[in-house]
Amino acid sequence: MNETQHTPVVPLEAGAGPENPPCPACGEPLFGWIDARPRLNGPIRRCESCGLGVVGEPGDGAEALRALDRLDAAAGAPIASRGGFSAWLGRAGWSGLERGAHYLFTVEAARRLVARRDQVVASARWAPPTAIAAMWQTVLNSFTFGHNVALGALGRGAADPAGRGWQRWMDALISVAVALPALAVAVPLELIAAAFGRGGAFSLRLELL
Ligand SMILES: [Zn+2]
Repeated sequence: MNETQHTPVVPLEAGAGPENPPCPACGEPLFGWIDARPRLNGPIRRCESCGLGVVGEPGDGAEALRALDRLDAAAGAPIASRGGFSAWLGRAGWSGLERGAHYLFTVEAARRLVARRDQVVASARWAPPTAIAAMWQTVLNSFTFGHNVALGALGRGAADPAGRGWQRWMDALISVAVALPALAVAVPLELIAAAFGRGGAFSLRLELL
């Protein structure tokens, strides 16, 4: 006797809608990635096509391109990669999720955005110092109450200190105590990530078409 099996019906397409607005870089629907955090401007969605991450409500392509310009992408400044292994590993603890961030870039998202003004990405290179620092801080973030405490103390970005005084003291002690072991983990992890094309930061060279 065959039992009747009820197969769940899964829609083949997840179309754009209020929950899945279009990606500012490529137009494909954005999907939920990380829930909202107090330090962030809303939940984070990501594009499964070009990899762009969006904190809160997405704007249009021109706005995302301006955000890329503010990072000095055209001058080759290193940019944290939303597609990097450190972002995947850290999720909400990823060091690239800084307070006030709106767009979280990948090389492909940048390529789509600069194409709006007839530019091409002539080369995209792994940016080792920034990428290793990002992996290191991402590992440290898993030990601390606050976010990006060590990089903030080193003047390499905005820290989000913990709310209570004793937590900030603990974070300072933890950051010092774990700094070297975390570096010993972060360096090989980031090297492996880069070898697989999943480095944590990239710098671009743009050319006009
Ligand atoms: Zn996209």
